[in-house]
Amino acid sequence: MKIGVIGAGQLGRMLALSGYPLNHQFGFTTKSNNEPSSMLGLVFNENECQNSAESIMNFADVVTYESENTDVEIIRNISKNVKVFPSEKSLFISQHRCREKKLFDSLNIPCAPNQKVNSLNDLRLALNNIGFPAILKTATNGYDGKGQFVIHSDSQIDKAWDSMNGVESILEGFVSFKRELSLIAVRGIDNDHKYYPLVENIHHNGILRKTIAPANRIDHNIQDIAEKYMRKILDELDHVGVLTIEFFETDKGLLVNEIAPRVHNSGHWTIDGATTSQFENHIRAITGMPLGDTTPIHNCCAMVNIIGKTGDTNSVLKMPNTHLHLYNKKERKDRKIGHINVNAGSVDELQKRLSQLKQYLPK
Ligand code: AMP
Repeated sequence: MKIGVIGAGQLGRMLALSGYPLNHQFGFTTKSNNEPSSMLGLVFNENECQNSAESIMNFADVVTYESENTDVEIIRNISKNVKVFPSEKSLFISQHRCREKKLFDSLNIPCAPNQKVNSLNDLRLALNNIGFPAILKTATNGYDGKGQFVIHSDSQIDKAWDSMNGVESILEGFVSFKRELSLIAVRGIDNDHKYYPLVENIHHNGILRKTIAPANRIDHNIQDIAEKYMRKILDELDHVGVLTIEFFETDKGLLVNEIAPRVHNSGHWTIDGATTSQFENHIRAITGMPLGDTTPIHNCCAMVNIIGKTGDTNSVLKMPNTHLHLYNKKERKDRKIGHINVNAGSVDELQKRLSQLKQYLPK
Protein backbone atom coordinates (compact mmCIF):
# COMPACT_ATOMS: atom_id res chain seq x y z
CA MET A 1 0.00 0.00 0.00
CA LYS A 2 1.02 3.63 -0.39
CA ILE A 3 1.36 5.17 3.05
CA GLY A 4 1.34 8.96 3.45
CA VAL A 5 2.96 10.37 6.58
CA ILE A 6 2.30 13.91 7.78
CA GLY A 7 5.76 14.95 8.95
CA ALA A 8 9.21 13.67 8.03
CA GLY A 9 11.19 13.37 11.26
CA GLN A 10 12.83 10.34 12.82
CA LEU A 11 9.52 8.62 13.60
CA GLY A 12 8.51 8.75 9.93
CA ARG A 13 11.96 7.49 8.99
CA MET A 14 11.70 4.48 11.32
CA LEU A 15 8.10 3.77 10.17
CA ALA A 16 9.33 3.60 6.57
CA LEU A 17 12.33 1.43 7.47
CA SER A 18 9.95 -1.07 9.05
CA GLY A 19 7.34 -0.84 6.28
CA TYR A 20 9.45 -1.53 3.20
CA PRO A 21 9.92 -5.26 3.95
CA LEU A 22 6.11 -5.53 4.01
CA ASN A 23 6.00 -4.10 0.46
CA HIS A 24 4.63 -0.69 1.37
CA GLN A 25 5.66 2.61 -0.20
CA PHE A 26 5.98 5.92 1.57
CA GLY A 27 5.41 9.63 1.00
CA PHE A 28 6.04 12.42 3.51
CA THR A 29 5.08 16.05 3.92
CA THR A 30 8.24 18.02 4.67
CA LYS A 31 9.34 21.55 5.44
CA SER A 32 12.77 21.12 3.86
CA ASN A 33 14.51 18.56 1.66
CA ASN A 34 16.92 17.30 4.29
CA GLU A 35 14.68 15.99 7.04
CA PRO A 36 15.27 12.49 8.52
CA SER A 37 12.67 10.89 6.18
CA SER A 38 13.48 12.86 3.03
CA MET A 39 15.48 10.09 1.35
CA LEU A 40 13.00 7.37 2.31
CA GLY A 41 10.13 8.07 -0.04
CA LEU A 42 8.39 10.72 -2.09
CA VAL A 43 8.46 14.14 -0.46
CA PHE A 44 5.77 16.76 -0.67
CA ASN A 45 7.54 19.91 0.44
CA GLU A 46 5.17 22.43 2.04
CA ASN A 47 7.22 25.28 0.60
CA GLU A 48 7.32 23.88 -2.92
CA CYS A 49 3.90 22.39 -3.61
CA GLN A 50 0.78 24.48 -3.34
CA ASN A 51 -0.96 22.11 -0.98
CA SER A 52 1.20 19.34 0.46
CA ALA A 53 -1.76 17.79 2.33
CA GLU A 54 -3.71 17.50 -0.91
CA SER A 55 -0.67 16.03 -2.67
CA ILE A 56 -0.20 13.38 0.00
CA MET A 57 -3.92 12.60 -0.15
CA ASN A 58 -3.65 12.01 -3.90
CA PHE A 59 -0.61 9.78 -3.39
CA ALA A 60 -1.71 7.66 -0.45
CA ASP A 61 -4.02 4.69 0.20
CA VAL A 62 -3.80 5.44 3.92
CA VAL A 63 -2.44 8.43 5.84
CA THR A 64 -0.87 8.59 9.30
CA TYR A 65 0.97 11.30 11.23
CA GLU A 66 4.11 11.60 13.30
CA SER A 67 3.05 14.16 15.86
CA GLU A 68 0.08 14.93 18.10
CA ASN A 69 0.62 18.57 17.14
CA THR A 70 -0.64 17.86 13.61
CA ASP A 71 -3.40 20.28 12.55
CA VAL A 72 -6.78 18.54 13.13
CA GLU A 73 -8.29 20.48 10.23
CA ILE A 74 -5.78 18.91 7.82
CA ILE A 75 -6.60 15.41 9.07
CA ARG A 76 -10.34 16.11 8.84
CA ASN A 77 -10.00 17.22 5.20
CA ILE A 78 -7.79 14.30 4.20
CA SER A 79 -10.10 11.78 5.85
CA LYS A 80 -12.98 12.88 3.60
CA ASN A 81 -11.11 11.14 0.75
CA VAL A 82 -8.55 8.73 2.22
CA LYS A 83 -8.50 6.67 5.42
CA VAL A 84 -6.49 8.32 8.21
CA PHE A 85 -5.26 6.28 11.19
CA PRO A 86 -5.22 7.07 14.07
CA SER A 87 -8.47 8.95 13.50
CA GLU A 88 -9.24 12.61 14.10
CA LYS A 89 -10.69 11.80 17.55
CA SER A 90 -7.42 10.33 18.86
CA LEU A 91 -5.54 13.37 17.56
CA PHE A 92 -8.03 15.97 18.83
CA ILE A 93 -7.99 14.61 22.38
CA SER A 94 -4.32 13.81 22.75
CA GLN A 95 -3.11 17.19 21.49
CA HIS A 96 -4.77 19.07 24.36
CA ARG A 97 -3.93 18.32 28.00
CA CYS A 98 -7.37 19.42 29.29
CA ARG A 99 -9.19 17.14 26.84
CA GLU A 100 -6.91 14.25 27.82
CA LYS A 101 -7.67 14.76 31.51
CA LYS A 102 -11.41 14.86 30.77
CA LEU A 103 -11.06 11.53 28.94
CA PHE A 104 -9.19 9.97 31.90
CA ASP A 105 -11.91 11.19 34.31
CA SER A 106 -14.70 9.84 32.12
CA LEU A 107 -13.01 6.41 32.07
CA ASN A 108 -12.16 6.41 35.80
CA ILE A 109 -8.44 6.41 35.09
CA PRO A 110 -6.49 8.13 37.88
CA CYS A 111 -4.32 11.17 37.09
CA ALA A 112 -2.95 14.18 39.02
CA PRO A 113 -5.48 16.75 40.29
CA ASN A 114 -5.80 19.43 37.63
CA GLN A 115 -7.61 22.59 36.61
CA LYS A 116 -7.83 24.62 33.41
CA VAL A 117 -6.09 28.04 33.60
CA ASN A 118 -6.76 30.91 31.19
CA SER A 119 -5.69 33.91 33.27
CA LEU A 120 -3.65 34.96 36.29
CA ASN A 121 -6.83 34.94 38.32
CA ASP A 122 -7.64 31.37 37.19
CA LEU A 123 -4.15 30.36 38.27
CA ARG A 124 -4.62 31.77 41.78
CA LEU A 125 -8.00 30.00 42.10
CA ALA A 126 -6.52 26.71 40.84
CA LEU A 127 -3.63 26.96 43.32
CA ASN A 128 -6.15 27.45 46.13
CA ASN A 129 -7.70 24.11 45.16
CA ILE A 130 -4.60 22.13 44.22
CA GLY A 131 -2.00 23.64 46.59
CA PHE A 132 1.82 23.84 46.35
CA PRO A 133 3.90 22.47 44.73
CA ALA A 134 2.08 22.42 41.41
CA ILE A 135 3.08 22.42 37.79
CA LEU A 136 1.69 24.84 35.22
CA LYS A 137 1.78 23.57 31.62
CA THR A 138 0.64 24.93 28.27
CA ALA A 139 -2.44 22.95 27.21
CA THR A 140 -0.98 22.30 23.75
CA ASN A 141 2.37 22.08 21.95
CA GLY A 142 4.46 21.06 24.96
CA TYR A 143 7.30 18.61 24.36
CA ASP A 144 10.51 17.57 26.13
CA GLY A 145 9.41 19.46 29.26
CA LYS A 146 9.01 22.77 27.38
CA GLY A 147 6.13 25.10 28.31
CA GLN A 148 6.16 24.07 31.98
CA PHE A 149 6.72 25.89 35.27
CA VAL A 150 6.89 24.29 38.72
CA ILE A 151 5.35 26.61 41.32
CA HIS A 152 6.53 26.17 44.92
CA SER A 153 5.23 29.37 46.53
CA ASP A 154 3.07 32.51 46.15
CA SER A 155 6.07 34.56 45.05
CA GLN A 156 6.36 32.55 41.79
CA ILE A 157 2.76 32.86 40.62
CA ASP A 158 3.19 35.99 38.43
CA LYS A 159 6.37 34.65 36.85
CA ALA A 160 4.76 31.27 36.14
CA TRP A 161 1.77 32.86 34.40
CA ASP A 162 4.05 35.22 32.39
CA SER A 163 6.03 32.22 31.16
CA MET A 164 2.87 30.80 29.52
CA ASN A 165 2.66 33.89 27.22
CA GLY A 166 -1.11 34.06 27.73
CA VAL A 167 -1.88 30.69 26.11
CA GLU A 168 -4.47 28.23 27.38
CA SER A 169 -2.87 26.28 30.24
CA ILE A 170 -3.47 23.63 32.86
CA LEU A 171 -2.35 23.46 36.49
CA GLU A 172 -1.52 20.00 37.81
CA GLY A 173 -0.69 18.89 41.32
CA PHE A 174 3.00 17.99 41.53
CA VAL A 175 3.20 14.20 41.77
CA SER A 176 5.89 12.78 44.00
CA PHE A 177 6.55 9.71 41.88
CA LYS A 178 8.94 6.80 42.38
CA ARG A 179 9.53 6.24 38.68
CA GLU A 180 8.20 7.19 35.28
CA LEU A 181 6.87 4.27 33.25
CA SER A 182 5.25 3.97 29.87
CA LEU A 183 3.09 1.43 28.12
CA ILE A 184 2.92 1.05 24.36
CA ALA A 185 0.11 -0.84 22.70
CA VAL A 186 -1.30 -1.33 19.24
CA ARG A 187 -4.88 -1.81 18.12
CA GLY A 188 -5.78 -3.15 14.70
CA ILE A 189 -8.65 -2.28 12.38
CA ASP A 190 -10.26 -5.59 13.46
CA ASN A 191 -10.06 -4.54 17.17
CA ASP A 192 -7.17 -6.88 17.96
CA HIS A 193 -4.96 -5.46 20.78
CA LYS A 194 -1.34 -6.14 21.66
CA TYR A 195 0.72 -4.72 24.51
CA TYR A 196 4.45 -4.30 25.06
CA PRO A 197 5.77 -4.64 28.62
CA LEU A 198 5.90 -1.54 30.85
CA VAL A 199 9.24 0.23 30.52
CA GLU A 200 11.04 2.66 32.84
CA ASN A 201 12.00 6.08 31.50
CA ILE A 202 14.79 8.22 32.90
CA HIS A 203 14.60 11.93 32.02
CA HIS A 204 17.09 14.74 32.51
CA ASN A 205 15.96 18.36 32.20
CA GLY A 206 12.62 17.16 30.79
CA ILE A 207 14.26 15.12 27.97
CA LEU A 208 14.14 11.31 27.82
CA ARG A 209 17.71 9.99 28.14
CA LYS A 210 17.29 6.27 28.78
CA THR A 211 14.61 3.57 28.72
CA ILE A 212 14.94 0.24 30.53
CA ALA A 213 12.79 -2.50 28.97
CA PRO A 214 11.07 -4.29 30.54
CA ALA A 215 11.08 -2.08 33.66
CA ASN A 216 12.57 -3.85 36.69
CA ARG A 217 10.38 -4.91 39.61
CA ILE A 218 7.00 -4.83 37.82
CA ASP A 219 4.58 -7.40 39.12
CA HIS A 220 1.78 -8.81 36.94
CA ASN A 221 -0.73 -6.78 38.83
CA ILE A 222 0.78 -3.43 37.70
CA GLN A 223 1.13 -4.59 34.08
CA ASP A 224 -2.52 -5.72 34.19
CA ILE A 225 -3.71 -2.39 35.57
CA ALA A 226 -1.74 -0.46 32.95
CA GLU A 227 -3.19 -2.67 30.19
CA LYS A 228 -6.70 -2.21 31.58
CA TYR A 229 -6.33 1.60 31.38
CA MET A 230 -4.83 1.27 27.91
CA ARG A 231 -7.67 -0.91 26.66
CA LYS A 232 -10.29 1.55 27.91
CA ILE A 233 -8.56 4.42 26.10
CA LEU A 234 -7.98 2.49 22.86
CA ASP A 235 -11.59 1.35 22.72
CA GLU A 236 -13.07 4.72 23.67
CA LEU A 237 -11.05 6.42 20.91
CA ASP A 238 -11.67 3.56 18.47
CA HIS A 239 -7.94 3.96 17.98
CA VAL A 240 -6.14 2.23 15.12
CA GLY A 241 -2.33 2.14 15.33
CA VAL A 242 0.12 2.50 18.19
CA LEU A 243 -0.77 4.46 21.32
CA THR A 244 1.49 5.29 24.26
CA ILE A 245 0.57 6.08 27.86
CA GLU A 246 3.08 7.79 30.14
CA PHE A 247 2.61 6.92 33.82
CA PHE A 248 3.88 8.08 37.18
CA GLU A 249 4.46 5.15 39.54
CA THR A 250 3.56 6.29 43.05
CA ASP A 251 3.16 4.65 46.47
CA LYS A 252 -0.58 4.57 45.75
CA GLY A 253 -0.27 3.00 42.28
CA LEU A 254 -0.16 4.26 38.72
CA LEU A 255 -1.26 7.76 37.69
CA VAL A 256 -1.56 8.59 34.02
CA ASN A 257 0.44 11.63 32.92
CA GLU A 258 -0.38 11.81 29.23
CA ILE A 259 -1.03 9.85 26.06
CA ALA A 260 0.50 10.02 22.59
CA PRO A 261 -1.40 8.68 19.56
CA ARG A 262 1.77 7.37 17.95
CA VAL A 263 4.99 5.44 18.17
CA HIS A 264 7.08 6.81 21.03
CA ASN A 265 10.69 7.41 21.98
CA SER A 266 10.29 4.98 24.89
CA GLY A 267 9.46 2.25 22.34
CA HIS A 268 12.58 2.56 20.20
CA TRP A 269 14.10 -0.44 22.02
CA THR A 270 11.52 -2.65 20.27
CA ILE A 271 13.41 -2.33 16.95
CA ASP A 272 16.14 -4.66 18.23
CA GLY A 273 14.54 -5.98 21.42
CA ALA A 274 11.02 -7.18 20.57
CA THR A 275 9.69 -9.79 18.15
CA THR A 276 7.85 -7.04 16.24
CA SER A 277 8.85 -3.40 16.62
CA GLN A 278 6.40 -0.64 17.53
CA PHE A 279 7.00 0.83 14.05
CA GLU A 280 6.15 -2.37 12.20
CA ASN A 281 3.09 -2.88 14.37
CA HIS A 282 1.85 0.65 13.63
CA ILE A 283 2.26 -0.02 9.90
CA ARG A 284 0.57 -3.41 10.21
CA ALA A 285 -2.36 -1.84 12.10
CA ILE A 286 -3.04 1.06 9.74
CA THR A 287 -2.81 -1.14 6.63
CA GLY A 288 -5.15 -3.80 8.03
CA MET A 289 -2.46 -6.49 8.37
CA PRO A 290 -2.42 -8.94 11.33
CA LEU A 291 -0.60 -7.47 14.34
CA GLY A 292 2.82 -8.86 15.29
CA ASP A 293 4.02 -10.50 18.49
CA THR A 294 5.13 -7.88 21.05
CA THR A 295 7.20 -10.25 23.23
CA PRO A 296 10.77 -9.12 24.06
CA ILE A 297 13.46 -11.33 22.56
CA HIS A 298 16.04 -10.62 25.28
CA ASN A 299 15.81 -10.66 29.08
CA CYS A 300 16.97 -7.05 29.41
CA CYS A 301 17.00 -4.19 26.92
CA ALA A 302 17.80 -0.50 27.10
CA MET A 303 17.61 2.47 24.79
CA VAL A 304 19.92 5.45 25.20
CA ASN A 305 19.17 8.63 23.28
CA ILE A 306 21.97 10.40 21.42
CA ILE A 307 21.35 14.03 22.22
CA GLY A 308 23.13 17.11 20.86
CA LYS A 309 26.38 15.47 19.68
CA THR A 310 26.93 12.27 17.69
CA GLY A 311 29.92 11.30 19.86
CA ASP A 312 32.30 8.38 19.33
CA THR A 313 29.96 6.04 17.45
CA ASN A 314 32.78 3.65 16.46
CA SER A 315 33.10 2.64 20.10
CA VAL A 316 29.36 1.88 20.09
CA LEU A 317 29.63 -0.19 16.91
CA LYS A 318 32.31 -2.32 18.57
CA MET A 319 30.06 -3.27 21.49
CA PRO A 320 28.32 -6.69 21.40
CA ASN A 321 24.51 -6.85 21.21
CA THR A 322 24.37 -3.11 20.66
CA HIS A 323 22.71 -1.31 17.75
CA LEU A 324 23.25 2.23 16.54
CA HIS A 325 20.41 4.25 14.97
CA LEU A 326 21.16 7.70 13.57
CA TYR A 327 18.49 9.97 12.15
CA ASN A 328 20.44 12.06 9.63
CA LYS A 329 19.97 15.20 11.76
CA LYS A 330 22.50 17.96 12.31
CA GLU A 331 24.06 18.23 15.77
CA ARG A 332 22.32 20.83 17.96
CA LYS A 333 22.08 21.27 21.72
CA ASP A 334 19.30 19.16 23.26
CA ARG A 335 18.28 17.70 19.88
CA LYS A 336 17.55 13.96 19.59
CA ILE A 337 19.78 12.89 16.71
CA GLY A 338 19.86 9.13 17.24
CA HIS A 339 19.61 6.34 19.76
CA ILE A 340 21.43 3.19 20.82
CA ASN A 341 19.69 -0.09 21.63
CA VAL A 342 21.43 -2.48 24.00
CA ASN A 343 20.34 -6.09 24.65
CA ALA A 344 21.57 -8.35 27.44
CA GLY A 345 20.88 -11.65 29.15
CA SER A 346 20.86 -10.21 32.69
CA VAL A 347 20.51 -6.95 34.62
CA ASP A 348 24.22 -7.06 35.49
CA GLU A 349 25.24 -7.50 31.87
CA LEU A 350 22.96 -4.64 30.84
CA GLN A 351 24.45 -2.35 33.51
CA LYS A 352 27.94 -3.25 32.31
CA ARG A 353 27.03 -2.29 28.74
CA LEU A 354 25.34 0.92 29.86
CA SER A 355 28.47 1.89 31.78
CA GLN A 356 30.29 1.78 28.41
CA LEU A 357 27.84 4.39 27.08
CA LYS A 358 28.65 7.06 29.66
CA GLN A 359 29.44 9.61 26.93
CA TYR A 360 25.71 9.64 26.07
CA LEU A 361 24.30 9.77 29.58
CA PRO A 362 24.04 12.80 31.91
CA LYS A 363 26.50 12.76 34.83
P1 AMP B 1 5.11 16.07 30.19
O1 AMP B 1 5.37 17.05 29.09
O2 AMP B 1 3.75 16.18 30.78
O3 AMP B 1 5.47 14.67 29.80
O4 AMP B 1 6.15 16.44 31.37
C1 AMP B 1 7.56 16.35 31.20
C2 AMP B 1 8.17 15.84 32.49
O5 AMP B 1 7.84 16.72 33.58
C3 AMP B 1 7.61 14.49 32.94
O6 AMP B 1 8.32 13.45 32.28
C4 AMP B 1 7.85 14.53 34.43
O7 AMP B 1 9.21 14.23 34.74
C5 AMP B 1 7.59 15.98 34.78
N1 AMP B 1 6.17 16.18 35.18
C6 AMP B 1 5.13 16.41 34.35
N2 AMP B 1 3.98 16.52 35.03
C7 AMP B 1 4.27 16.35 36.33
C8 AMP B 1 3.51 16.33 37.53
N3 AMP B 1 2.18 16.55 37.53
N4 AMP B 1 4.17 16.09 38.69
C9 AMP B 1 5.51 15.88 38.72
N5 AMP B 1 6.29 15.91 37.62
C10 AMP B 1 5.70 16.13 36.44
